[in-house]
Amino acid sequence: MSVVDEIKCPHCGAPIAFEPGEILATCKYCGFTVVIETGQTFTYEHSILLNKYDPVQVEEPIREWMREGFMKPSDLERKAKISQKELVYLPFWVVSVEAKSTYKGIFERITPAVTKEGTIEKDYEWLVLARKASEFPTREYNVPLEGKIAYDFRRIEGFAQVFNSEIDKAEAEEQAKAEIENNHRFLAQQDVDKIIEMKTEIKIEETVYLHAPIWFVKYEYKRKTYQLILDGSTGGVIKGDIPSKGFRIL
Ligand SMILES: [Zn+2]
Repeated sequence: MSVVDEIKCPHCGAPIAFEPGEILATCKYCGFTVVIETGQTFTYEHSILLNKYDPVQVEEPIREWMREGFMKPSDLERKAKISQKELVYLPFWVVSVEAKSTYKGIFERITPAVTKEGTIEKDYEWLVLARKASEFPTREYNVPLEGKIAYDFRRIEGFAQVFNSEIDKAEAEEQAKAEIENNHRFLAQQDVDKIIEMKTEIKIEETVYLHAPIWFVKYEYKRKTYQLILDGSTGGVIKGDIPSKGFRIL
């Protein structure tokens, strides 16, 4: 059990609970976001993606996922029992950047090997999960940013949980830069076999704080428990455990 502390909302005066390690906290009575350490107002853009499902309706996209694809046991949808459905608004930082890498490397796939140069230029809306100890497949989550609106606490369902940020804006931007650089290094390695030189310039255009509705689902199938993570704004399964079919193709 973690210790819960409180801070007074500078906007409506209500108590805002937070846990150790959290950097930002959002008031559940007025939607105001405050920087815990300083007690100051959070002045950057705070957005939300809306959830489309209640706990009954969400079974529909889950069951649809169970039915589709030949990788799954054919009786999965019929036999699976959904045992847990929790809606959590997870905090993310969305870092919009222009990134440009130039590299020089050796191409060894031909003889003699040649030196080759290249450029990778891309725009990203790079997603950084604002929780530290969370196992969330961020890179597999294709966040539907076109649906984002200004944060509106009135749209948060009573049964949902809202998590606060444990990572500040600067830290998120550093993380995004490092991940993009790694990604470009990976891309350059598809083009040359050995990188001699590489330089990446990253220009940050905007960084937005975003809460996204994510369903954490558990289901039972043949006495085992499996997990599934579903995007509440589209109904798409971000990641799901699939039981093996119980036989092997030799
Ligand atoms: Zn408030």
